[in-house]
Amino acid sequence: MKRILVCPVCKSTDVEYDTAGVTGKYHCKNCGYVGSAVLEMTEGEYKEMIEGKDIEKKAERENW
Ligand SMILES: [Zn+2]
Repeated sequence: MKRILVCPVCKSTDVEYDTAGVTGKYHCKNCGYVGSAVLEMTEGEYKEMIEGKDIEKKAERENW
């Protein structure tokens, strides 16, 4: 199964491996994060995470 890279800061999938190769770090084009730690998950897991986020947001709204 295909795995996708997810930024640990902003949860964007707009993450690229630094192909210059020397640093071996990842770069998030969305928030500018640079580091060796990055979330790696399947598309299904990512979808679940995003959907979970939406549910959290809805719950927060209901509490207002
Ligand atoms: Zn990011």
